[in-house]
Amino acid sequence: MNEEGVIIGGGPAGAAVAIELSRHSIPARVLERKPGPHHKVCGEFISFEAAHYLEKLGIGLAALGAEPIRYARFYNGESELRFELPFTAWSLSRYRLDNALLEQAKTAGAAVERGTAVRHLTRTDDGWRLLTRNRLSARAAISAKTVFLATGKHELRDWKRRGRATRHPDFIGFKMHFSLSAMQQNPWQETVEVHLFEGGYAGLEPIEKGGVNLSFLVRQDVYKACGSHWPGLLEWLSNTSSHMKQRLASLTPCWREPLAVSGVPYGYLRSPGDSQPGLFPLGDQTAVIPSFAGDGIAIALHTASLAARVHASGGDSYMYQRLAYNDLTRPVRNAERLASVLSYRLGRKVAFLCARLWPTVLRETILQTRVGLSYRS
Ligand SMILES: Cc1cc2nc3c(=O)[nH]c(=O)nc-3n(C[C@H](O)[C@H](O)[C@H](O)COP(=O)(O)OP(=O)(O)OC[C@H]3O[C@@H](n4cnc5c(N)ncnc54)[C@H](O)[C@@H]3O)c2cc1C
Repeated sequence: MNEEGVIIGGGPAGAAVAIELSRHSIPARVLERKPGPHHKVCGEFISFEAAHYLEKLGIGLAALGAEPIRYARFYNGESELRFELPFTAWSLSRYRLDNALLEQAKTAGAAVERGTAVRHLTRTDDGWRLLTRNRLSARAAISAKTVFLATGKHELRDWKRRGRATRHPDFIGFKMHFSLSAMQQNPWQETVEVHLFEGGYAGLEPIEKGGVNLSFLVRQDVYKACGSHWPGLLEWLSNTSSHMKQRLASLTPCWREPLAVSGVPYGYLRSPGDSQPGLFPLGDQTAVIPSFAGDGIAIALHTASLAARVHASGGDSYMYQRLAYNDLTRPVRNAERLASVLSYRLGRKVAFLCARLWPTVLRETILQTRVGLSYRS
């Protein structure tokens, strides 16, 4: 049987395109390799743009327990910069968010198969052939006219990304959830904290049920110098500033080990010249924005919406890829430039000074790293 739309990957991009295709009465089948809800390395920051798309998809963030985020605090060593965000963002664990999106895809009429991994994807005369393996190790072949590639940073064998990713050193991303006792005052209420330091950055923000998420990126060499283990890394992190030391001292880890990810191709932007007939790469498969910008989920949802609209109106994957490239080049390149400036001690000092002297510059710089929506409307 030749299926209409098969979606590989059930993260925000895959689930969102399934919802939108179903709303256009196009049959959609999502194949997600993980058998159930799971955590992902992420800052859990849901930008204004992402929240806008989620609302349109029928996801009620407040009902899921998400925390509103209206303020940001930046730290560079001992110096602190506080400001009000130019929009209201949200914070919710990916465990809850991704699960809610997949459930919404089912409600919209999509078939969702958890625990099924796609092992091979090959072109045929009239579309695509997928070889899958489920959690019971059963293999199957699926034919599809159109495939939506939404595997995130994971590469599908035979379909590795081509082209430029960032030239910055290879980073490792970590994430840990912490709890606060009822007696402790939550210093993160409605606030995201970004700690900049030599060799990476860390983000802290409140999540549902009174918890706190810590996600951070460090260079591979820093991790090695810390003995390549979590306790050493945590100690190193707490020595980056007195603020960070104070924060970590008041938190109780929820897991024995953090989640970790490496080899994220920051700065990757799929060119329209790489498009294949009937193949729509979404989310991190199309662009990987430096994660401190906190707009990766918005890009996943934006590309899902664009692909569904192009496909439903009879457009092809080349048209989709060209539109996605036009929309994403500016935010990805601006976020890369900003990440590059902040990676230098002098760059961080100058950025803090400029932000103090001209607060509107900071606001405009942040807006330049967002996928296009109007904030003022
Ligand atoms: C350290 C770090 C912090 C970040 N913080 C933020 C943040 O605060 N806010 C933000 O907006 N973005 C953030 N991001 C980026 C964000 O996590 C991604 O951009 C976003 O998850 C992309 O969504 P996606 O649907 O494309 O991919 P994913 O969310 O990665 O989903 C891909 C799905 O595909 C499945 N899959 C993979 N391979 C297969 C296969 N072969 N067969 C079947 N299924 C498969 C995976 O299991 C997964 O569920 C961060 C990223 C990093 C690394």
